[in-house]
Amino acid sequence: MIQVLNRGGINITFLGHSGFIFEKDGHKIAVDPFLTNAPMAVKTPDEIIVDDILVTHGHPDHIGDSISIARKNDVTITTTFEVARYLQNNGAKAFGVPIGVEQLFPWGKAIFRPAVHSGLLPDNTPFDISAGIIFDFGSFRIYHLGDTAINLDFKLVKEIYQPDMALIPIGGRVNMDIPQAVLAAEWLGVKTVVPIHYDLFTQGPVNPLDFKKLIDSKNSRIECIVMEP
Ligand SMILES: [Zn+2]
Repeated sequence: MIQVLNRGGINITFLGHSGFIFEKDGHKIAVDPFLTNAPMAVKTPDEIIVDDILVTHGHPDHIGDSISIARKNDVTITTTFEVARYLQNNGAKAFGVPIGVEQLFPWGKAIFRPAVHSGLLPDNTPFDISAGIIFDFGSFRIYHLGDTAINLDFKLVKEIYQPDMALIPIGGRVNMDIPQAVLAAEWLGVKTVVPIHYDLFTQGPVNPLDFKKLIDSKNSRIECIVMEP
């Protein structure tokens, strides 16, 4: 299995669950860095050196260790409004952004898309909306879907942003299951997919290789890569 993937000049490191680090021209960006007590994690929060952190939504398996990593690296966490307020109240620098609007960074742009998923922050206050995040590095676009049910926004994302790669939750129960995740990949029109979110919150074991098998059986020319942390 692959630990660091390079596509479009971006080094992509899987942290386990839904966490990644993207590295482009010396910029390092973490998304949903969940390491402490995470089943797949092999790195500790202390090992994570980044310039930016983005968080898709307010569940503990996505906020993860972002607060301690942000404080140690003296960086700001970009996320949705309620989650930003929660992170600020817990000692991190955080910036809340609306859905669907381009946010500029030194490395490119991020666009938060609506995900179909909701719930409570760790302090039991509700958050209105969850997001997937399109990371637009100029020559290459990665869509991290966060946690979501299948929905027609994927067709709009293809139309407007033409992502090259998608990081797709496949675990069922709180997310798409494998057949729906395959359909999502097809709707998004991506060249490459990486399955995520199959190690926790599933109904029984979920094998990412079954997702790869189904993608490969469709002859859709989508490259499926199962990564390991
Ligand atoms: Zn989750």
